[in-house]
Amino acid sequence: MKVFTNAENLRQALMAQKDKKTIGFVPTMGALHKGHLSLVSQALSENDCAVVSIFVNPTQFDNAGDLKKYPRTLDKDVALLKTLQGTVYVFAPTANELYNNAIVSRHFNYGPIAKEMEGKHRDGHFDGVGTVVSLLLKAVNPNKAYFGQKDFQQLQIVKKLVELEKLSVKIIGCPIVREENGVAMSSRNKRLTKSQFEAATVISKTLKEVKDNFEKMSIPQLNALAKQRFKDNKHIELEYFEIANEATLKTVQRKRKGNKYRGFVAAFAGEVRLIDNMHL
Ligand code: AMP
Repeated sequence: MKVFTNAENLRQALMAQKDKKTIGFVPTMGALHKGHLSLVSQALSENDCAVVSIFVNPTQFDNAGDLKKYPRTLDKDVALLKTLQGTVYVFAPTANELYNNAIVSRHFNYGPIAKEMEGKHRDGHFDGVGTVVSLLLKAVNPNKAYFGQKDFQQLQIVKKLVELEKLSVKIIGCPIVREENGVAMSSRNKRLTKSQFEAATVISKTLKEVKDNFEKMSIPQLNALAKQRFKDNKHIELEYFEIANEATLKTVQRKRKGNKYRGFVAAFAGEVRLIDNMHL
C-alpha cells in the first residue's frame, strides 16, 4: 500500500487507473479504529477503490494542547488499512503541502446549523473543518465521500459545504460504531485511563435512557434527567446536553409531530473532550 504525501502524485496514481474507476473517499485524522474502518469498508463496497486521508488538521482545533496531544500513529494506521480487502490509497500530506504554505481557515456561511452545539462551543471549528474538507475533496476528486454520524453536526456541515462550493461529490453518512461497553469509538479514547473509559459509559447510557423515555417525558424533563446523570458521575464533566431537530440542528424545548430529534452530548473525561449523539 502506497502512502502519498503529495496531492499531485496521488492524482496521477488515481488517473493511471483504467477509465471509469469510481473513488470512495474517507477523510480522517488517523489513530484509526473500527469506526474509521467501517467507513473505509463501506467506501470499498460501493466504489472501485478507496482513498483514506490521514491528516491532523491544525485549523479545526480551538485548543493548542488538544492538537499537540492528538494521537499520531501512521504506521499502525497503514497496517490496519492493509487488513481490508480492496484497493486503498493513503493520502497523508503535511500541513504546508495541503494548505500550500498558508495554514489558515477560510470563512463559510453555513447558516444556522453552524451556530448550535459544536459551533457554539468550539470557536472557528467548522471553518477549519470546511477549509480542510474542501482542500481534500479538490485534491482527491472522489465520486462519494464517507463521514460518520459520530460527528453528526459535522456531517450536516459537510453536506452544506458541498452545496456552497458546488462540488460534484455525494456525501454518505455512516452509523456510529461503539465499544462493547457502549462508548462511541474515538481516537481520543486512547488518551483515557481505564477508569475514565468506564466512567465515559455515562454518555451513551444517558443518551439511551433519554431515547427510551422520549415518548413519555417532555424535553425539559429529559434535559433535567440527563443533567442529573452527569451530576451523579464524578469523573465526567458535562459541557452540553441538547435535544435538537435532526434537520435544522436547532436545539428544542418542545416536540412537534413530524419532526425527527436527536440527543447530543459533549463532555470531558479529565482533559479529553468526548462527543456522542443518538437518534431519539
Ligand atoms: P476523525 O479521525 O475523528 O476526524 O474521524 C474521521 C471520520 O470517521 C469522521 O467522519 C468521523 O465521524 C468518523 N468516525 C469517527 N469515529 C467514528 C465512530 N465511532 N463510528 C463511525 N464513524 C466514526
